[in-house]
Amino acid sequence: MTLHRIANELVAEARDHGCSVIAFEDLTDIRERTGASWGHKWAFNRLYEYVEYKAVEYGIIVEQVDPENTSRRCSTCGFTHPDNREGEAFDCQKCGYENHADYNAAKNISLRYLRRNQTGGDEGAPLGVRLNSGTLNVNGEYESPADVSARAGVHAESHRFSGG
Ligand SMILES: [Zn+2]
Repeated sequence: MTLHRIANELVAEARDHGCSVIAFEDLTDIRERTGASWGHKWAFNRLYEYVEYKAVEYGIIVEQVDPENTSRRCSTCGFTHPDNREGEAFDCQKCGYENHADYNAAKNISLRYLRRNQTGGDEGAPLGVRLNSGTLNVNGEYESPADVSARAGVHAESHRFSGG
């Protein structure tokens, strides 16, 4: 699967969920955080650019948010602890919430976008995207046959933020 195809799927998912924003984790320090190679980082940046390019056609904004603690924070109760994360599994030590670690992180990214913009009026729901290191090869193709949610850690926030 190519980066163009993945970008199309991400934008389609945003449209399906009525998202007006796609929130990517900030890619600046992705090598340090995930152990991604330079090739991965290049591929992630290309993916981001493709998504941005495709999203514009549908009036969808693409933003980057600070990814700090999004892997360790529970997207349900907010409890943040390194023990919450065990490889690909997220298991909250406080409330017991369990999900794929990348999915939980993607959910945190969309929530972080909402919080950051809570005084900015009605922007609609965001789609959170969290990229992990093992999914892209240097040619920009995915090796895993798993669904796009597991590979990229995609989360569409369904509720609209009420503000205040
Ligand atoms: Zn929790």
